[in-house]
Amino acid sequence: MEPVVELKHITHVYVSDREASLALDGLDLQVYPGEFVSLVGPSGCGKTTLLSIIAGLMKPTKGEAFVYGRKVDGPTAEVGYMLQQDYLFPWRTIFENASIGLELTGRLDQEHLARTGALLEEMGLSDARNLYPQQLSGGMRQRVALVRTLTTDPGILLLDEPFSALDYQTKLQLEDLIAGTLREKNKTAVLVTHDLSEAAAVSDRVIVLGSRPGKIRKSFDVPEHIRSARPLLAREQTGFNELFHDIWREMESAGDKE
Ligand code: ADP
Ligand code: MG
Repeated sequence: MEPVVELKHITHVYVSDREASLALDGLDLQVYPGEFVSLVGPSGCGKTTLLSIIAGLMKPTKGEAFVYGRKVDGPTAEVGYMLQQDYLFPWRTIFENASIGLELTGRLDQEHLARTGALLEEMGLSDARNLYPQQLSGGMRQRVALVRTLTTDPGILLLDEPFSALDYQTKLQLEDLIAGTLREKNKTAVLVTHDLSEAAAVSDRVIVLGSRPGKIRKSFDVPEHIRSARPLLAREQTGFNELFHDIWREMESAGDKE
């Protein structure tokens, strides 16, 4: 099977007038169609840099990134990006926020608008379509952000700590909803999170990065019976705690290396 995301020897150096810092060092990664991969690692190990390179928002200093076999050369509609902050516009209604991607890509037609409505409904937001962001809870706002990302139908979703600003209960519910939605729609996803239990519960594969410079330390395949369970139930499966502890130990030694 051809990977949908492929990174070949990616090295990234940030240069300022005072210093140069090596964020990523010769990193290789393949993500396959429909896979849900999580990236975990100490703060500053290059996770956001990696997603920005896949999204085409940043050119790596060395190495090449491919999406669907084509070399990444700027952002494309095939890749959706979701962040911790939702960046909803306060002066636009929920529906207007959700459909902004369509507006920017010139697809504000009946078919796409109907799909936006359907997605809002799927996310339990039908009653909120004419409200404004400040009238919504954090969890609802992240659901709007997901709808906005999905309206343009990207095959790949990059998620940079989208749940980390939410309270625990909301976070669990949202993990369940988002992971379920992405699987059902057969999306490929790369999630950055600092929550190891979240990574183990939603992913097919958990990749631990080490820092300074950022490199892949170890990749954990999540056992079939855990990955096929919904995130909320995955945590109760046999072997989940062992997997969590294995990832935890790897993370601890990743931090030691600083
Ligand atoms: P993570 O998302 O894993 O916390 P980042 O990808 O944001 O890590 O950052 C990786 C490293 O690169 C860090 O040491 C960070 O300080 C540095 N860095 C990130 N963005 C910039 C930037 N715009 N200019 C200079 N250094 C940066
Ligand atoms: Mg980051």
